[in-house]
Amino acid sequence: MMQEDITTKYLNHARQNQLVQRHTVPVMDLPVCPKCERAGFRDRGWKEKKVMVCPHCHYEGPSTVILRGYMKEKLYR
Ligand SMILES: [Zn+2]
Repeated sequence: MMQEDITTKYLNHARQNQLVQRHTVPVMDLPVCPKCERAGFRDRGWKEKKVMVCPHCHYEGPSTVILRGYMKEKLYR
């Protein structure tokens, strides 16, 4: 039960941006911002260097993980 609460809490946190909520790509495929841990978008350079841009804190740079992997590894704890 505790586990689910943390997961739900993190997902709400990750999706806490209107642009993310309106986005058509499944949220689990979005890269995670290393600064604020919210979901962001793939930017130019994604294929080569995993460059992302965060609509929340405006971080631009490499992301190490997409949301699916982030959830799987439970990195939000
Ligand atoms: Zn961010």
